[in-house]
Amino acid sequence: MFNLTYEFKLKPTRQQVLLFSEWMEIHRRVYNYALRERKDWYKSRSCQINACSVHSEYIISADTPRPTYASQCKSLTAARKNNSQLKSVNAQSLQQTLRRLEKAFVSMWEHNQGFPRFKKTGKMRSFSFPQLGKSPLGKGQIKLPVIGVVKFRQSRYIPDGGVVKQARIVKRISGWYVMLTINSNVDVPEVKPHGKGRGIDVGLISMVASSDGLLVKRPKFFVDAERKLKLLQQRVSRKRLGSNNWKKAQKKVALLHEYIANCRKDWHRKLSHQLCDGAGMIFVEDLNLTGLSRGMLGKHCLDAGFGQFFKILEQVCLKRGVYFQKVDSRKTSQICPQCQHQTGKKTLAERVHKCAHCGYTTDRDVAAAQVVLIRGLAAVGHTVKMLSEGKFVGIPVN
Ligand SMILES: [Zn+2]
Repeated sequence: MFNLTYEFKLKPTRQQVLLFSEWMEIHRRVYNYALRERKDWYKSRSCQINACSVHSEYIISADTPRPTYASQCKSLTAARKNNSQLKSVNAQSLQQTLRRLEKAFVSMWEHNQGFPRFKKTGKMRSFSFPQLGKSPLGKGQIKLPVIGVVKFRQSRYIPDGGVVKQARIVKRISGWYVMLTINSNVDVPEVKPHGKGRGIDVGLISMVASSDGLLVKRPKFFVDAERKLKLLQQRVSRKRLGSNNWKKAQKKVALLHEYIANCRKDWHRKLSHQLCDGAGMIFVEDLNLTGLSRGMLGKHCLDAGFGQFFKILEQVCLKRGVYFQKVDSRKTSQICPQCQHQTGKKTLAERVHKCAHCGYTTDRDVAAAQVVLIRGLAAVGHTVKMLSEGKFVGIPVN
């Protein structure tokens, strides 16, 4: 059993667009209200025992329990009884928004992410329907709660036998989209390590290097589009803030951003498929992406989109039955893949790996990918054998 997400562009009527926008605004207010409730509770507890701040503390009695997803759902149900605006939106859909807030808090506690923020007007971009009626999908149309049938452009075939678990309505600058989570009742066998292994190293000069010597240049979507972006942004700055012309110019900037993001995603998918060709196992480094993007080359790291690439690569591997594993990323560029001798740090300008110990010479990124491959093969319990210079195979132990 597994879930797949399909995304389609909606073709809503004018009334449907108005209704969607109205709902989005109500979702935003519910989110902000619930966040305010939680924030007030935290603030009222952060006051020191022996001192009381004069202006900023809230007085909430000491035995009030912390607002949780369950308690906020309860008060939402109560509020719906006499609020016509809240009543006009699907209740489960609103609960999903509260769950989203809960998730934001959990990732703050568990992954050390920032305190959830209030969403400004227009910053809420999606809401979801967690439950749809019986067989909601028709040819090029979907039946949603309350609003009824909405048409969409069916750009892909949806496999039969799947159950639509959830529909998420997303607002992008280019229009409204629906993301359908489809649950297939097919058993997917767990992929076991098999076949040829391939190590992958990501970097900034060559975005991807594989252990068989493939070097793929970093796409410069952003750099290429930067000139155009600059021009468009200049136009925005010349318009009067908030005027209609300003809004039009602003929209053009947003459209370009969306276009760049789409190009990048498409490229990541194609590259992932290329890397899966002829491989049975794929190993990548387990990078600390948050740390990287805060560093000196942060902008370029974000432009390349390593995080998204790894996610897409993992999905493509799953689809194509290729084993995928992350391995320790420490010092991959400082070790000689052939003799395991530590060569010391290379500067970014040093493009070639030349081992002083055994004389093995190759591109530095390829060498790093080979180290990743060797680590990966060891991680799945294979013994590593070198066939010829730069060619490594893993032999299963038994
Ligand atoms: Zn060496």
